[in-house]
Amino acid sequence: MAPMRDDPAPAAARLLETAACIGRLLQGELRRRATELGLQLVHLQALAYLARANRYSDTAIALTEYLGTSKGTVSQSLQLLLREGLIWRTTDEKDRRVIHLGLTARGRKALNALGFLSEWNAALAALPPDEIAAADEAMTGALRKLQRRTGNLTFGVCRSCDHFRIEGADAFRCALTGEPLSAQDSALICREHRLATVQELRARARLASARRR
Ligand code: SF4
Repeated sequence: MAPMRDDPAPAAARLLETAACIGRLLQGELRRRATELGLQLVHLQALAYLARANRYSDTAIALTEYLGTSKGTVSQSLQLLLREGLIWRTTDEKDRRVIHLGLTARGRKALNALGFLSEWNAALAALPPDEIAAADEAMTGALRKLQRRTGNLTFGVCRSCDHFRIEGADAFRCALTGEPLSAQDSALICREHRLATVQELRARARLASARRR
């Protein structure tokens, strides 16, 4: 007789609850640090987003989608960040209707001073690397399936996108727009991101590590 397998339903529910708890905990920590700086959580979230958004995603509308909040809240937050000299804004050279946003040196300094992911990195440093890799694989697979089922966007990192193509050592291309991407672009987040398969992500990681040798 085949051995009985544990019912995956409770583990799946626990996984979701754990992911939500991690999100709440890190958000609480970020809120505390924002208060110390005389800012609100949404201001820091906007700074953290704009520090990593690529050229297709560094706009007020993309930030509104990312935060899942109202246009009014985002507009007020951006006005405050502009007044404080923490962000800049500039009109797109090709399409004058598009306004790009980014962090000033002062904004970047404020964000760096927060040690944005220091608690998370310290917590994970205590775990064995193979456990982290297994958790990464499970969560990546679940996220990809969820994205396919719901059709919702994930604002993921470019190099993990289905549309990301490697053309050389430091030469990449977006198959969606056809435009070249730099190594720096590949580390930014994008509103058009569609998560690649776990197998594809593994193959890219192997290629990157072979190139580093
Ligand atoms: S490859 Fe994906 S994440 Fe990167 S720019 Fe293209 S659509 Fe955006």
